[in-house]
Amino acid sequence: MNPFLNLGIRHDIVNAISELGFENPTPIQEQSIPVLLTGSNDFVGLAQTGTGKTAAFGLPLLELLDFEENHPQALVLCPTRELCLQIANDIKNYSKKMDNVNVVAVYGGASISDQLRQIRRGVQIVVATPGRMLDIINRKAIDFTQVKFVVLDEADEMLNMGFQEDIDSILSTTPETKKTWLFSATMPAEVRRIAKKYMNEPFELTMGTKNTGNANIEHEYYIVRARDKYAAFKRIVDFNPDIFGIVFCRTKIETQDIAEALMKDGYNADSLHGDLSQQQRDKVMKRYRERNLQLLIATDVAARGIDVNDVTHVINYSLPDEVENYTHRSGRTARAGKTGVSISIINAKELGKIRQIERSIGKKFVKADIPTGFDVCEKQLFSIVHKIHDVEVNEQQIEQYLPRIMEEFKDLTKEDFIKRFASIEFNRFLDYYKNAPDLNAPVEEGRFDRDRGERGDRAPRDFGGKSEYTRLFINLGSVDEFNRGDLLGYICNNAKISGRTVGKIDVKGVYSFFEVPNDESAKVMEAFKGVEFKGREVRIEVSGEGTSTSRSGGDRREGGYRGGERREGGGGYNRSGGGGGERREGGYRGNSNPNNAGFRDFSGKRREDRPERRRRF
Ligand code: AMP
Repeated sequence: MNPFLNLGIRHDIVNAISELGFENPTPIQEQSIPVLLTGSNDFVGLAQTGTGKTAAFGLPLLELLDFEENHPQALVLCPTRELCLQIANDIKNYSKKMDNVNVVAVYGGASISDQLRQIRRGVQIVVATPGRMLDIINRKAIDFTQVKFVVLDEADEMLNMGFQEDIDSILSTTPETKKTWLFSATMPAEVRRIAKKYMNEPFELTMGTKNTGNANIEHEYYIVRARDKYAAFKRIVDFNPDIFGIVFCRTKIETQDIAEALMKDGYNADSLHGDLSQQQRDKVMKRYRERNLQLLIATDVAARGIDVNDVTHVINYSLPDEVENYTHRSGRTARAGKTGVSISIINAKELGKIRQIERSIGKKFVKADIPTGFDVCEKQLFSIVHKIHDVEVNEQQIEQYLPRIMEEFKDLTKEDFIKRFASIEFNRFLDYYKNAPDLNAPVEEGRFDRDRGERGDRAPRDFGGKSEYTRLFINLGSVDEFNRGDLLGYICNNAKISGRTVGKIDVKGVYSFFEVPNDESAKVMEAFKGVEFKGREVRIEVSGEGTSTSRSGGDRREGGYRGGERREGGGGYNRSGGGGGERREGGYRGNSNPNNAGFRDFSGKRREDRPERRRRF
């Protein structure tokens, strides 16, 4: 039996949501639907966006209202126009097999007469942003005296945006007897206060621990010098060829500047901020939603309520002023059970803010290294290789050209051909990154001591000249679709060790490194004997002299596919090397000349000759 039927949802609705792909209830739906269906409780749900909370309250509303009556019975208040449209649309979709369900979306920035007309025609569910709702109430154009349920969605956002008074006024037009259901991603004191004010012994549901961010989000930070920030950001983007991301800036001007620079550099990016007209914002959002835009550069306010699935990365180009906003930003990824990464690009002075956010969301950040030019090239190469491998061939269309194509290539061996094909795009990255400097900013040893115990930057622990940790090589990497978290899980599962014992994990293309305590390394190597991954033997070896005290490029293995050509260096920042600030060896091909043009170009002038790479996907 369909699990939604078990929860008490009727067939008509279950059939409609099945068509939307809802097979099983999400945890919040599972827990809140039975409570809300009783219709007799006030309710507080602490849940992130993307957890399925619209259906968590939307489905019970459809069960509880009387659709033979044509007057407002439910009011859903939410902070933004985008969210308002989204919720109204979702409820319409859930109810598309039911008769006489009328939902109206009421929001600013659009014709009020149209909305008034819809209200006059008769509605049962009003989904509204507070400002426009109040306007309509003040025109005496709506009657809320028979409202049975009020939903306050993203209550924390509404308060952040200063809607407290509007909400008070709106709610004063609804009857005392109504039930109030409040959803919020976070529970600051103000939300607690309104919960107390409007509700009577509410049923409280917390998904995850209090103020905890979504468990599917991996939080990373990179430390760079201010002058390298843009270059570092681009490198992170280049290292993630299939990124579909939202980049957060603090101001409209910064948003505009970054978006323009990216566009000039050939990236598929655009900006979203409050100085754009509604029409312009809709256009940008449409392109992003349809994935004709790869990077959306946004301010906090403009990005509120953005509900786009499959966002792979949230990038905090600048950290938000308020810790709370970090949760909202990162919640734009890892929606509907997916995973996602929230990246912060900071300078060394901002480490304190990272610690503050960690405390607030109850989750540790991983310190990551800005990829070297070599890393980027490798990643791009394999992305191209995978694309070539997986591309759908239109046999019919290409057939007519095949004889000529074969003729053109007849002097090439298969190997030559493959090399050339892959090089078409790869060469541009090689060229761009050939003298790429290390962009990781030096951080004093003292700082690392404080970060001790964190996976990304475990402090070197020296006992009588011997490091506590052994750095191991494993022949699995990002091309096998491992990220740090996956690899950690994979190692711990196979070696039966706790995640806490694993030190720094460095995922490369075709291989990775990870650290384990010296006395665990033999056990880990032993445990992997005979283990296969997708039919391939998994190999683990001690990585040269590599321990956490000597993590410079020197211990880097040579890549299987390029053998001896691969140069040393370009590995992680050499903390014991001293003079880190001066390190600028090319990620791809070393260049010891500090005056080389490549390095100078990287400090900002190089934009024009960035490889052309507009991607649609
Ligand atoms: P929400 O938190 O309501 O914004 O939902 C986030 C996304 O998850 C939306 O795209 C929903 O369509 C989707 N979703 C919600 N519930 C389910 C479910 N039970 N199964 C699959 N997808 C869902």
